[in-house]
Amino acid sequence: MECSYCQKLKSYGYGDFIAETEYWVIFLAPNQSNLGTCVIALKRHYGKLSGLKPEEWSDFSKIVDRLEYALKKAFDVTMFNWGCLLNSFYLEDQPNPHLHWHFIPRYTHKVHFEGIVFEDPYFGYMRPRPVKNVSTKLRKKIIAKIKENLK
Ligand SMILES: [Zn+2]
Repeated sequence: MECSYCQKLKSYGYGDFIAETEYWVIFLAPNQSNLGTCVIALKRHYGKLSGLKPEEWSDFSKIVDRLEYALKKAFDVTMFNWGCLLNSFYLEDQPNPHLHWHFIPRYTHKVHFEGIVFEDPYFGYMRPRPVKNVSTKLRKKIIAKIKENLK
């Protein structure tokens, strides 16, 4: 069975497509409990950080710079969490992970965007929060705002 990430990458149907580079694709994450949360997936099917090619690291470092800059400008983000977890793949009998990063903007303050208030009540900590699903229309506006600031 083909990896779910590879399928999603083929159709760019995972969450919402924001941008791509030579080696990575940036999507808006399904869960927007922290406004602007993104997923950055490696384009090729590969499942761990060790053994990543130097050109993939180098390309990724440019994404870090660009995304942090864009989100800071778009939503006045305080700081950023970057996480490479891959946990859910290992719940399968035969784990077949596909490398991706979770990019989570963190806020000391409330952010009002398009009439909705986004909060980060556990700033300074990493605690599970209920999923915040926002409408497709709002997702498009979040993506547009990020793209507008993505250099
Ligand atoms: Zn894959």
